[in-house]
Amino acid sequence: MSGQLVTLVDRRRCRDLAARLLEISPRTEHFAPAPRNPESAVRVPDFHLAWIAICQQTRTLAGVVDGVSYRGSDYLVHRLRARLDEDPERFTAGRLQSVTGDELRAWLSDDGDPASSTVDRVEERVALLRDAAARLLDGYSGATAHLLAASKGRLEGKTGLLERLSRFHAYRDPVRKKSFLLIQYLRVAGVFEPVDPKALGLPVDYHLLRVLLRTGAIQLKGARARDLLGGGEMSEAEDARIRLAGVEAGRLMAEVVDVATLDRLLWMIGRNCCFYGHAPVCTTGPCTLEASCSFLQASDLDCGLRCPFDGTCSGSRNPAAAAFREPTFDTDLY
Ligand code: SF4
Repeated sequence: MSGQLVTLVDRRRCRDLAARLLEISPRTEHFAPAPRNPESAVRVPDFHLAWIAICQQTRTLAGVVDGVSYRGSDYLVHRLRARLDEDPERFTAGRLQSVTGDELRAWLSDDGDPASSTVDRVEERVALLRDAAARLLDGYSGATAHLLAASKGRLEGKTGLLERLSRFHAYRDPVRKKSFLLIQYLRVAGVFEPVDPKALGLPVDYHLLRVLLRTGAIQLKGARARDLLGGGEMSEAEDARIRLAGVEAGRLMAEVVDVATLDRLLWMIGRNCCFYGHAPVCTTGPCTLEASCSFLQASDLDCGLRCPFDGTCSGSRNPAAAAFREPTFDTDLY
């Protein structure tokens, strides 16, 4: 163990926090919109593999789909679901192997005009999509369904889905954020059911990291802790280490709330109650952000204008913990 950075997971805090989530149900249609064109149904595995491959650093995305405003990765999945229904072949490997930046911009704009898209990191996303397409064409006859079949329902092991996915550049994360998220979506869609579901972990991104640090579910100690908790830059090794602690915290919390529900609710707290762009709502009195709250849009939450973790979370009792920032790391992994 390096004295520079020590990560701790607070078992009791994890269980107490998870218990606060038991009464909240996320709306499946918000997180995992089903295709509406019957011809799209067979392409659902390809669709999820593609949109999750580029589900990183989605802060700039925003728009309206079917009259509803979305931002971030909510916009990514809803807008691309609509693009799938327009053209069910759009996310097949055969098409994605030559996808261009302007095509991606057009897909991620409300009016189909690349010039009006808010998507950024376009070259990076195009490279991830092309790489995924090439690997599907090389190893799986160009179909995500064949990749799933090859794993024989297993997540773990040399021939399991996690190992197979790790050979895709988009899914190479040692902490498996995108892989865990993809498997969650494939399960919801009814196209993949793991025989070893305990191997499915929490997809830890920057929103979850912020919440887990402020709540005290994971704690950083050692000489590097102060800088990292102030939002300082972390190394690749530090990122992996801290997010692995987040996965461990998720395993403890998933003993109380199933891992997909846990992910959705933690993520909603991180992008609303405990968002990086404003003070945590527990520190400012009753929440005033109801009109723009995607947590209310995405669940049956009856919050009373308070964060669900208020009173249990370290940040709600200690201003220093409420001020923690997630460490900075420029990455395409999450
Ligand atoms: S109680 Fe406060 S610090 Fe804790 S997760 Fe909620 S908003 Fe963030």
